[in-house]
Amino acid sequence: MAQNLICIVCPRGCHLTIDENKNVSGNSCPRGVNYAINEITCPKRILTSTVKLVSKSLARLPVITSEEIDKNIIFDVMKELNKVEVKAPIKMHEIIIKNVLNTGVNIISTREIIE
Ligand code: SF4
Repeated sequence: MAQNLICIVCPRGCHLTIDENKNVSGNSCPRGVNYAINEITCPKRILTSTVKLVSKSLARLPVITSEEIDKNIIFDVMKELNKVEVKAPIKMHEIIIKNVLNTGVNIISTREIIE
């Protein structure tokens, strides 16, 4: 049975249809084909969140995955983030968790915290 998806690769947001033979229609560029196939076989997402921070300026440090992770492990990664507490100073793009859950993906800071 065909599935309908909205491509999120760029702001154009093409309405895609993918059938059981992985034929994709509705895409305005080839990236939509890859997106639709990945989305029905192994959907992935970049995860943005925060971790506890000890500093004079902020209570939470914003973090992001260094690459996309499987959508079905996002809640498990969130649990790992809840266990973490870091102290200032923190550099921009500093690794906060290396190889989270053996995915090969790092959790990195998206903000510099001086103190
Ligand atoms: S199919 Fe191409 S043009 Fe359409 S939303 Fe996806 S990336 Fe953008």
